[in-house]
Amino acid sequence: MNSFPDSLNDLIDEFSRFPGIGRKTAQRMAFYVLNSNDNLANDLSNSILTLKSKIRFCEKCYGISEDKLCMICSNPRRDSSTICVVENPADIYTFEKTSIFKGLYHVLGGVLSPLDGIGPDQLEIKSLLERVEPENEVLVATNATIEGEATCLYLANLLEERAVKVTRLARGLPMGGDLEFVDDATIMRAIEDRSAI
Ligand SMILES: [Zn+2]
Repeated sequence: MNSFPDSLNDLIDEFSRFPGIGRKTAQRMAFYVLNSNDNLANDLSNSILTLKSKIRFCEKCYGISEDKLCMICSNPRRDSSTICVVENPADIYTFEKTSIFKGLYHVLGGVLSPLDGIGPDQLEIKSLLERVEPENEVLVATNATIEGEATCLYLANLLEERAVKVTRLARGLPMGGDLEFVDDATIMRAIEDRSAI
């Protein structure tokens, strides 16, 4: 047990709750706040409170927004015939960084995981089915995990019943990667998803 004052310990505890932040890093962050001028503490706490009060879920795609509809859903230049289904709001920004995808998104809010009590009703699946039209393409971009794959197949069955074209991201080799270091599952999927040159 360390002998930090309670208030310092409390801040270390809070920083430790962030993903990827261990106790040691949390301690460095807390000391950084302590040693900085008051502006940092004020700006940081204000930013967090403002974020929490202003950001809400877009009513159409369940991504994050400061308005009823997010900037993507309210942009008339986006291709509304293609909907990319992702697990979490943050995934949208991974696609947006590339500027290649011009369609809309739909955030599930997780993946099917019966062991954790997450079934279809806990995800934004009903709202997805309500917004897709028969001529749409739905690109399922769940993660390449067991739950992500199961969720993808579940959605594909539901959507194909509605005559929606369902696609998913190709699984394959990382750019700049060396074949020697790629795991077997990725090699198998890369062979399955091979394309003509
Ligand atoms: Zn939206």
